[in-house]
Amino acid sequence: MDASSQDVARALLGWYDVHARDLPWRARPGCAAPDPYRVWLSEVMLQQTTVAAVKSYFAEFVRRWPSVEALAAADEGEVMAAWAGLGYYARARNLLACAKEVAGRGGTFPADELELRALPGLGAYTAAAVAAIAFGQRAVVVDANVERVVSRLFAVAAPLPGARVAIRRHTDTITPSERAGDFAQAMMDLGATICTPRAPRCLLCPLSASCLARLHAEPEQFPVKAPKKARPQRAGKAFWIERDGAVWLVRRPGKGMLGGMRALPDDGWSARANGNGTPPLMGPWQPGGVVAHGFTHFGLDLHLAVYEGDDWSSLTASEGEWWPLDSIDDAGLPTLFAKAARLALAEAGEVG
Ligand code: SF4
Repeated sequence: MDASSQDVARALLGWYDVHARDLPWRARPGCAAPDPYRVWLSEVMLQQTTVAAVKSYFAEFVRRWPSVEALAAADEGEVMAAWAGLGYYARARNLLACAKEVAGRGGTFPADELELRALPGLGAYTAAAVAAIAFGQRAVVVDANVERVVSRLFAVAAPLPGARVAIRRHTDTITPSERAGDFAQAMMDLGATICTPRAPRCLLCPLSASCLARLHAEPEQFPVKAPKKARPQRAGKAFWIERDGAVWLVRRPGKGMLGGMRALPDDGWSARANGNGTPPLMGPWQPGGVVAHGFTHFGLDLHLAVYEGDDWSSLTASEGEWWPLDSIDDAGLPTLFAKAARLALAEAGEVG
């Protein structure tokens, strides 16, 4: 690190000592590193998800499964249900696979970034974050917050995602050997609270003296983004089959979208690349409204088909269960199907 890079690290760590966010998975600045299990769990949960959304899930997971061995021994269905609402469900499956692997090594996470990277579900970011935060290893940690701060600090002109190589290289130049975990968390905190996407608070920023974007008075121009492609729209159906105060739920196949989650039966929309298979409803099926939902790569209009007949045997022949409507919130439905259930119950006047 040259002198100006050292200045950045020093200024940032000084700011972090005073302004660090108090988060349940963290150690205070300068204190002994936190339990690697908690660091890993929080980092997996925080991928694509906000701190505010993660807090209650984190508290519930560590209450039910306080160690990696406890999580490794958990029932997969219970873990998936506890994860419901956090989205990106492949993370939960990988979480369990990783817990089993670490439990098989005596419950100890490796401290080395490359060995961490070899565990299920740990990409470059998570491996670096766990190595730095839980083990104090010098690792280059770049999440979306860091990406924004560094692209502004160095006024990186190339658009994302291509600019990631340059952003990582710049981050490497300012990452210190000492307190690497605090440095990574300080960058995340700065991005979350000061160097925000809109209206960054440069006057309060400890890095303002070194920041090229601020010098050019255009911080919001960075990171430069390539023009967005339009997100395709799909359509599908979900089936609401109700009898005696209960609704028929199925378990989705382990692989694929929302894999392993409890759900309403549907017409297989997730396996159709670009289909919009919504032929008109016939016979005892009635339209129950439409749920709009956004996935990362496409938007979905899920048409709810409500069964109004009285011959349930063929509909419920395959594997599934009758779930009581008065405890539908405990079914662990992913957000899409939880929205569909709320719509069906509202249409039927069973909830406000
Ligand atoms: S000076 Fe402004 S743009 Fe630059 S890092 Fe700080 S908050 Fe971000």
